[in-house]
Amino acid sequence: MAQEYDVVILGGGTGGYVAAIRSAQLGLKTALVEKGKLGGTCLHKGCIPSKALLKSAEVYQLTKEKALSFGVETEGVTLNFSAVQERKKSIVDQLYKGVQGLMKKGKIDVYEGTGRMLGPSIFSPMPGTISVEMNNGEENEMLILKNLVLATGSRPRTLPGLELDEEQILSSDGALALESLPASMLIIGGGVIGIEWASMLNDFGVDITVVEYADRILPTEDEDISKEMKKLLEKKGIKFVTGAKVLPETVEKTSEQVTISAEIGDSTQSFTAEKVLVSVGRQANTEGIGIENTEIEIEKGYIKTRPTFQTKESHIYAIGDCIGGLQLAHVASHEGIAAIEHIANQTPEPMDYEKISRCIYSSPEAASVGITEKQAKERGFTVKIGKFPFQAVGKALVNGKADGFVKIVADEKTDDILGVHMIGAGVTDMISEAGLAMVLDATPWEIADTIHPHPSLSEVIGEAALAVDGKAIHM
Ligand code: FAD
Repeated sequence: MAQEYDVVILGGGTGGYVAAIRSAQLGLKTALVEKGKLGGTCLHKGCIPSKALLKSAEVYQLTKEKALSFGVETEGVTLNFSAVQERKKSIVDQLYKGVQGLMKKGKIDVYEGTGRMLGPSIFSPMPGTISVEMNNGEENEMLILKNLVLATGSRPRTLPGLELDEEQILSSDGALALESLPASMLIIGGGVIGIEWASMLNDFGVDITVVEYADRILPTEDEDISKEMKKLLEKKGIKFVTGAKVLPETVEKTSEQVTISAEIGDSTQSFTAEKVLVSVGRQANTEGIGIENTEIEIEKGYIKTRPTFQTKESHIYAIGDCIGGLQLAHVASHEGIAAIEHIANQTPEPMDYEKISRCIYSSPEAASVGITEKQAKERGFTVKIGKFPFQAVGKALVNGKADGFVKIVADEKTDDILGVHMIGAGVTDMISEAGLAMVLDATPWEIADTIHPHPSLSEVIGEAALAVDGKAIHM
């Protein structure tokens, strides 16, 4: 018999399960349909497992190369990659159990299966129906619903003609599942995922070359951040080739290695590595979910939504990676909450995407919020810049990680902060101060007036804020 719900959510990733929790909190009868594992990409193939590997890589590097500089003598340091993967798995498992527990606590009905929209039911005045092909092979479940939230996420993209075999040519999914480390890896794409993998694998001792189509790595970040990241990663031994168009038709595989060429200006260069990681972005999961049974529009591969996250059918919402934009876990979950609050006739604050922090968890880390210096100038602002290095801050030296800086871009006329860009150890945990400042429309002066504890890495933010008006103390 068909079950009736106030809200059905299709996809139990970060966006979907958080939406389900808010829906239940607001007293709505809620169902969540997930064909894989609750927690989705972020928990099983993204944020968490990749950060667990990055942490192991950092600890390995520190113990192997830097321990002595702290006065700690270590001998015969070796890497046990199976134990690294085991640690990753246990963190993921722990969080997975947590999400399952939250679903139980919220009395959310979880359907383990593949959901598909069928359009309105002839048996009910409710506007939508979902059929769920159950993973356990039992008869399809029919869910009749007042509101639907599509949160079907995304999957790795590849270059046309370049097949991901997940053995030698990997996506990030395949790379996370590696049982042993290759001697060398060619990384196609120098965006966030490519740079995190380059940094991590290099720290594990893999020979890394990154090939990027744009003229700089991290092309959406502030140019100073791109330059500094390249410089610091090159110092660690990573090779970069920018302005390079990879030619998928040139790929040649033997059992030991892969060779592929790229067009760089007027010449062609070939690259050989034991494995290739393709990190050229992600594509939305919009197939097989019954879009054809609805009025929903797809634009450039993503589900088209209004600022309220409603699609063309006003009872169907879409959030997270499947609608494009900033494909980040915290964006997906926030959109999920906003969609549910709209369903519950609340008026959520419209999301200001420019005030959302973006983080890169490589070593060094990078983090930013707001617009870049170049974007600010293109928008006609007369900018003033405050920049301060970690080198001049005691805590960074104590930590043995003093590379990088904080850069604040402000409007000369109004003193508004337009963007904050950071690179260095610990910045992914520091960026929220800048995010809060931007949300509260604080000025650099107000940041500087917030007395930062000494010694702390956050002093760099205070000094950068002072530097906007040429008043930095320790420089
Ligand atoms: P997803 O997490 O992709 O979840 C969608 C879910 O829908 C999946 O579980 C899928 O199985 C399910 N589904 C799809 N179709 C159906 C169907 N028909 N029926 C039932 N279920 C269905 N973001 C960050 O903020 N920080 C990071 O550090 C970070 N690191 C990342 C590292 C990597 C390697 C990758 C790949 C991504 C990373 N991301 C990170 C991005 C982040 O993982 C995504 O932005 C986030 O997972 C999006 O959440 P979502 O709920 O929209 O989609």
